[in-house]
Amino acid sequence: MKPILQNLVEMTGHRDHLRLEVSVLTTLQAFSGMVQVRSLEVFMLDGEYYCRPRTWMDGRGQWLSAGTEAQSDPQRVRVADMPALHECLQAHASQAVAKLGKGRHALWLPVWMNDKVHTCLEVIQARPFSAQKIDTINSVFQVFQNYQSLLDYSERDALTGLFNRKTFDEQFARATTHDTSEPIALELPRDSAEPGAEGADKQWLAVVDIDHFKMVNDRFGHLYGDEVLILVANILRSSFRSHDRIFRFGGEEFVVLLRSTSLATAHKVFNRFRKNVEDYYFPQVGQVTVSVGFVSAENGSPVEVLGRADQALYFAKENGRNQVRYYDDLVAAGLLQTKQVSNDDVELF
Ligand code: GH3
Ligand code: MG
Ligand code: MG
Repeated sequence: MKPILQNLVEMTGHRDHLRLEVSVLTTLQAFSGMVQVRSLEVFMLDGEYYCRPRTWMDGRGQWLSAGTEAQSDPQRVRVADMPALHECLQAHASQAVAKLGKGRHALWLPVWMNDKVHTCLEVIQARPFSAQKIDTINSVFQVFQNYQSLLDYSERDALTGLFNRKTFDEQFARATTHDTSEPIALELPRDSAEPGAEGADKQWLAVVDIDHFKMVNDRFGHLYGDEVLILVANILRSSFRSHDRIFRFGGEEFVVLLRSTSLATAHKVFNRFRKNVEDYYFPQVGQVTVSVGFVSAENGSPVEVLGRADQALYFAKENGRNQVRYYDDLVAAGLLQTKQVSNDDVELF
């Protein structure tokens, strides 16, 4: 077993949540007598806590991470069926222990953030947990939590809490490629709505820009402008699924990475979001609308993909705003030119 300190050094060397998580699990796994260490994703569904494994080790010592949407995961479990953990979450407590069957003992460590819990570490060993063991595990857990909140702080936009632009490239790569150096070795079978539909598994990128936002600032002041940004961010969060990614790119511009869906669904989902904004009553300000340009995220670098989505967005702005435009449709209709390399016949895109 590597000395704990060395493991801690490794843990805090990661600038990525999943690797940090794998690293803390590896550290705990190296403790004596461990049967299984994994992280659970915790979520609310109809007012009830559910959980499902997010990161765990398979029989060959390979870390695996769930790829499906948590809420539709058939492996999800009602936390109410795990009384000790249930009580712990209800009481907002920091840990729970329980004796499981077959001589196994569990320690659960929920990660609390602003009174909410999304993650819980689960440590299972073959004997009861001594107070000293719990202390040591708790210290490792504290380092993990502190480091995780630092990571969170550097990845997120302070006003809206959405991911910032800095994290975009990495998330983009993760959404559009299967990086084998990552511990995500497994995608659980999905039970989503579009089995086998052609192109059902594509990634899409949209650029969202608030219409006439300058007017909001000018008429109501910057504070109301900021409030509108926060509310639009909330509508974004509630309009997309948990495994889609939403970024605030700059002032009043947002980027959405829609994962694993068909073109038809992408149209539907982006339009539903646009409508959600249109129908929302913004206090004092009244109605606000957004324009959206989107494109497949699978052909080209982030800059190229963003460039195309931007062109579609620009078209939406020029042609009435409050609408969603798909880049390929515009090109097919001769309304947009694909960009050319200057002084060259070679197509850049
Ligand atoms: P269009 O429909 O063409 O997008 O018009 P617009 O007025 O929304 O576009 P423009 O890009 O000209 O204006 C964006 C404005 O967003 C300019 C700036 O004052 C404002 N802005 C940028 N960042 C912030 C911010 O953090 N808070 C507030 N309140 N305003 C911001
Ligand atoms: Mg803008
Ligand atoms: Mg704007």
